[in-house]
Amino acid sequence: MVRKPVIVVHGGAWAIPDDLAESSKIGVKNAAKCGFSILASGGSSMQAVESAVRMLEDNPVFDAGHGAVLNANGDVELDAIIMDGKNLAVGAVSCIKNIANPVMFARTVMEKTPHSMLTGAGANTFAERMNIDKVPTDELVTENATKEWEKYQLYKQSVTSLFNTEKMHDTVGAVAIDSEGNLSCGTSTGGITNKMVGRVGDSPIVGSGAYADNFCGAVSTTGHGESIMKVTLARLVLFNMQRGETPQNAADHALEYMKNRVHGSGGLIVVSKSGEWAARFSTKRMAWASAENNLLTYGLNPGETFQETLDP
Ligand code: ASP
Repeated sequence: MVRKPVIVVHGGAWAIPDDLAESSKIGVKNAAKCGFSILASGGSSMQAVESAVRMLEDNPVFDAGHGAVLNANGDVELDAIIMDGKNLAVGAVSCIKNIANPVMFARTVMEKTPHSMLTGAGANTFAERMNIDKVPTDELVTENATKEWEKYQLYKQSVTSLFNTEKMHDTVGAVAIDSEGNLSCGTSTGGITNKMVGRVGDSPIVGSGAYADNFCGAVSTTGHGESIMKVTLARLVLFNMQRGETPQNAADHALEYMKNRVHGSGGLIVVSKSGEWAARFSTKRMAWASAENNLLTYGLNPGETFQETLDP
């Protein structure tokens, strides 16, 4: 059966400041368009997700690849995941350095190793072996990321009081279904500003930062990683859907559960096996966009939805 392809992307759930609002919207719209053009020409959801996430990683507005936030040492450590809903194949990387497109590297781990996740120095050695370009840290660091980091050094606030604010995170992700009904998802992040060296959040953890299963749907999450991991947010949304909830209700109930159970805020995008999708968040803002048929839908503030016709 030929399916109607759909892609949904996000650029992170957090208190996006006004001066980043417009560029965040433009960034997610372009990524959704890029992924959708692959789906519309018969490409796979895996390719569409990888391309959309790569575009978001290359955009310095978002905390992934170029634009990643800095850890306590002022260094960049990146996490990413990609998952194929057809056979539940998954590739993830965590705590990697000097790689501009961690999602592409995660796909290499999925396709070229017998493992699901590589981390730290071992991952970087494998990247060299696979001839993945090494970029100097400076090239990934933006002025904004440096300013944020300097602010945190100045105040030296306690780790816990900082980490549950909405001020310091933001991640990118994509979910898609292609014309063959295959679902895929991908998530990529620099994590949260001033995180401990070696800290890994939810993003590369299967079932927390992302999950895709052709039998149900695909999800990519964003928000407070330590909370998301505790409730395995991506899998929780699909669990709710398997019990008969719509993607939107499944997402809202999972976010509500995370808030009530562990006081965590975040957001997510989800697409079901029948192409129904939702973009939901419990933070102040989340930049998101979806593309299907000839329609581009996007938003940033709660309850806000804009639509534009997509050029054929
Ligand atoms: N979830 C990411 C992390 O905790 C951050 C984010 O989504 O903004 O690493």
